[in-house]
Amino acid sequence: MIKLFKIISSNYQLKSFIIILFLIAQSQNFAQNKIRCVYCQQEVNNKYILVDGKAYHPEHFLCKECNRPINGNFVRKDGSYYHPDCYIIAERLICDYCKKALNEEYVVNENKKYHKSCYENYILPKCAVCSMPLKGEYYEDIYQNKYHPYHRNELHQCDCCNRIICQSITNGGQDYSDGRHICNKCYATAVFDPKQLAKLLTKVSERLSSIGIKFNLKNIKIVGLDRNVLRNKAKDYNENTQGYCDSKSLNKYIDDKLVAQTTYHNIYVLNGMSSIVTESIIAHELMHSWIYENTKNNFSQKINEGSCNYASYLYLKSLNQNSALEQIKLLETDPDAIYGKGFFEIRQRFENKSVYDFLTFLRY
Ligand SMILES: [Zn+2]
Ligand SMILES: [Zn+2]
Ligand SMILES: [Zn+2]
Ligand SMILES: [Zn+2]
Ligand SMILES: [Zn+2]
Ligand SMILES: [Zn+2]
Repeated sequence: MIKLFKIISSNYQLKSFIIILFLIAQSQNFAQNKIRCVYCQQEVNNKYILVDGKAYHPEHFLCKECNRPINGNFVRKDGSYYHPDCYIIAERLICDYCKKALNEEYVVNENKKYHKSCYENYILPKCAVCSMPLKGEYYEDIYQNKYHPYHRNELHQCDCCNRIICQSITNGGQDYSDGRHICNKCYATAVFDPKQLAKLLTKVSERLSSIGIKFNLKNIKIVGLDRNVLRNKAKDYNENTQGYCDSKSLNKYIDDKLVAQTTYHNIYVLNGMSSIVTESIIAHELMHSWIYENTKNNFSQKINEGSCNYASYLYLKSLNQNSALEQIKLLETDPDAIYGKGFFEIRQRFENKSVYDFLTFLRY
């Protein structure tokens, strides 16, 4: 299974709300130093306000917003001065969440302003694992579960659906003896029973036949295995392998003349996978059997695996059910250079054509 996640970072800026203390200066010797008010150009008396090196009569140090004298704390912005309350009005410093004034450090996110606490508690997405706010970078899986990156080191991902296995997302999970981890969502439909497996083979084969890909089920057998056994059975096994189709042709000769050829397929699939994943694997392996019987079978690995994934896709699409759509998403987001890319290319080529066109391409 390929573990795929999108890394997202929540972008925000912390802004401070500045309040500057009022300063009253005493003119010690105003007979010698004629200090003038910046506002009225008249000399100041012995008590005046000194801001940024400029003097004002107390009644002439004015708020830009309300035009009334400021005689207490003030806010400086772009060379103008404001009463703190007027600054809130002038800058529309209202929290977009609680609609109350932003008279403290605040957060700007996507052109909206929030109290830091409102932003963290109500606006920031919450971790699907621990439900704490997601500050900074986080992961998002294909099911829109967002979570802290470090949970990936503490928790397993489901070998069926890729969800992170935890109480809140999957209601826990199972550890298989062959090293696989299966979440309880998938485990609820896990297929171990050979009879059920045979039923699923019939179901998938009938559905694919109904859209034009036909199989001779008489010569196809299906076997469920754990990962250790599959590792020994499958050619080109790697950690993403979930199934294998072993095909053999038996030739019948009479007097050295070939009179009949029968092809047999043993389809091996991982047992204990969710029903929908099992069906998807079966569709893939059935397509290998079809390619073996109906083509020269000399495609590149990419076309080969891409075509088999395309058969899974056609099958899943025909089901029109939610779990099938999720499984399609896993096929689509598979970053593998052979399976993922191959599927992307085949699908791009045949999505708007018929299944017949797809099979004709493989045949010739
Ligand atoms: Zn003045
Ligand atoms: Zn004011
Ligand atoms: Zn608020
Ligand atoms: Zn968390
Ligand atoms: Zn799962
Ligand atoms: Zn394959």
